[in-house]
Amino acid sequence: MKLSRKAMAISPSPTLTIDARAKQLKSEGVDVIGFGAGEPDFDTPEHIREAALKAIQEGFTRYTPSGGIPELKEAICERLKQDNNLDYRPAQIVVSNGAKHSLANVFTAILDPGDEVLIPAPYWVSYPDMVKLADGVPVSVMTDPQGGGKLTAELLQRYLTPRTRAIVLNSPGNPTGQVLSRKELEAIAEVAERHDLFIVSDEVYEKLVYGGAEHISIASLDEAIKKRTVIVNGVSKAYAMTGWRIGYTASLVELAAAMDSIQSHLTSNPNSIAQKAAVAALRGPQDCVEEMRLVFDSRRTYALERLHKMKYLSCSEPRGAFYLFVDAGQALGLSFRGTAIDDTDTLAALMLEHYRVAVVPGRGFGAPAYLRLSYATSMENIKEGLGRIEAFLQELK
Ligand code: PMP
Ligand code: GLU
Repeated sequence: MKLSRKAMAISPSPTLTIDARAKQLKSEGVDVIGFGAGEPDFDTPEHIREAALKAIQEGFTRYTPSGGIPELKEAICERLKQDNNLDYRPAQIVVSNGAKHSLANVFTAILDPGDEVLIPAPYWVSYPDMVKLADGVPVSVMTDPQGGGKLTAELLQRYLTPRTRAIVLNSPGNPTGQVLSRKELEAIAEVAERHDLFIVSDEVYEKLVYGGAEHISIASLDEAIKKRTVIVNGVSKAYAMTGWRIGYTASLVELAAAMDSIQSHLTSNPNSIAQKAAVAALRGPQDCVEEMRLVFDSRRTYALERLHKMKYLSCSEPRGAFYLFVDAGQALGLSFRGTAIDDTDTLAALMLEHYRVAVVPGRGFGAPAYLRLSYATSMENIKEGLGRIEAFLQELK
């Protein structure tokens, strides 16, 4: 069958592939520990689920405005003000089917064929393919993961060309857990200003910062940078709402209107019931967010300590999100029961096959010598899973 060039140019999301494999093994009764996809293991808080039930009971089950209901757009503006001291109007907000969909809208709305987008690596797996789907050219800007995976103005300068159109920022970041400071953001903002670039600021892990790290939205630096920034956020991570599929953008009105039009043709509107649930999440009590953050933090501390003691692996301290990005370079070149470990794909496959632990190999994140472990799973699973990884490593020769 002849498929389009675009379809052939992309590969399936490796995080979702690993997650699906682990879930499938589990459903077959295999005792597998999943450190794969970054998905909070908590239930969506009760008051949010109740809001959804109420929406169903009240018959709120029809098409809504394509870019989201006014009530949700207002709730988003309130949170942006309260959490980041940012002033946006509902006309600047577009609600979509998850932050992933929001990002796809942004790239579709700002890129012409051949436009380049600078993506700091290690990056979240979907950015490059999303850019390609929008006819853009992803340009990977390699940072030093051991140094925290931080993007600097100097690095950016090296990759700028006349075709550069946008910079992707993801702080707190997946997979490294890096959190950019005000000073670091100011330096990046200065480059964006000087070269007239969009900043696509993916802030989905905004609420998940640890050890005194502070989330700062680049849009809050000043009015000029706010105008060239599109904030992308959603309810998946902070409120344990991955399956509800609600994400949003905040941007200039012209861009918001363009994204709304695109979405009106492709998906109509985000799910009406999930929108009501998202209103309850954003306007309701926020202590559930803090409770989950504290649990993530204790898992992070525990897992990091265990990893530090393991041979062949090293990991710098993540300060946000819920991932450990582990350098497994020292294990490459060794062998497991006669199989040579040439890359982390093989390493991850052997761990899954023989020790039933699912981790994501680094290739999809632009850092092939690394493995990503998500600690969005119970402490019990973390203890057991890390024990298995330790036992696996003991067998390497
Ligand atoms: N951005 C990053 C960095 C992510 O890790 C994720 C997780 N899937 C998303 C965006 C998309 O989140 P969602 O579509 O569930 O809102
Ligand atoms: N963002 C999560 C991850 O990186 C969920 C899976 C995905 O959408 O990629 O694992």
